[in-house]
Amino acid sequence: MYFDLLWQSFRDYAWYLGAELLHPHWGNYVYWLLGLSIAVYLLELALPWRANQARIRQDFWLDGFYLFFNFFLFSLIGFYAISNVAVHAFKDVLAWIGVKNLVAIEIHTWPVWAQLLTLFVLRDFIHWNVHRLLHRVPWLWEFHKVHHSVHQMGFAAHMRFHWMENVVYRTLEYVPLAMIGFGLQDFFLVHIVALSIGHLNHANVRLPLGPLKYVFNNPQMHIWHHAKQLPQKHGANYGISLSIWDYLFGTAYVPQDGRDIELGFEESEAFPRKWHQQMVHGLWRPAGKRPLQDRTLVIQSSTAEQPLT
Ligand SMILES: [Zn+2]
Ligand SMILES: [Zn+2]
Repeated sequence: MYFDLLWQSFRDYAWYLGAELLHPHWGNYVYWLLGLSIAVYLLELALPWRANQARIRQDFWLDGFYLFFNFFLFSLIGFYAISNVAVHAFKDVLAWIGVKNLVAIEIHTWPVWAQLLTLFVLRDFIHWNVHRLLHRVPWLWEFHKVHHSVHQMGFAAHMRFHWMENVVYRTLEYVPLAMIGFGLQDFFLVHIVALSIGHLNHANVRLPLGPLKYVFNNPQMHIWHHAKQLPQKHGANYGISLSIWDYLFGTAYVPQDGRDIELGFEESEAFPRKWHQQMVHGLWRPAGKRPLQDRTLVIQSSTAEQPLT
């Protein structure tokens, strides 16, 4: 039964994607991703923050590939199908223990703008928490290293991340969002807004927001998230679209202009540079080899280290 559902989800999605590509329209993800990427890239070329950074920066094409891989091939094709199955299995388990309905607040009766705003803010807060976990739990940090292996920043670095991050984020956001009546197929507009902010946060542009910087994440803040040297052992500035969580919970860190700071993590030069190596990184521990030291493990004693599963 689950296999049929998986197969049907794949087929539906392949059909949907084909139709999307053949018929450009305003609700089309493919063209939005392309259009937004080109627009932010043009902004980088016109008003670069680091003027001496090459136009085709280090890992430009690798990250360009990630952009499409993480947005479609995995996030929307693979995971869409897998999540459908996971959600059904999850509901079956809930029904089995006697929980019929997870919805705590019936948000569909609210005006659309209030639904969108709630979804945007709540989802961002969940993502802020998941991001903190990615930095704090050693085996999750191994996956998240892919995103932090960027040494030269540009918009496409936004989508350089391990496919397991999709699994972690989607799984952990499902229950709280389901409780207020949102499904996994959340609203298009929220996705597009988050995509635009994420692209800008990683772009080689200066975006002075004035007092709004306490609400919205921005390139001047997010670059410090990628800083190689940080005073806090688990990092800072975990905000995805909003910076407000970091200011509220004391994890904001922008000591000075971070335009030219060194990016990466401890020993990030030795991190695999090829896509296929990065995709399997962290899935198992190489036989007889300790994982690369990271900034968490450097500070923790070896007894505190948790085994990779
Ligand atoms: Zn991070
Ligand atoms: Zn980042």
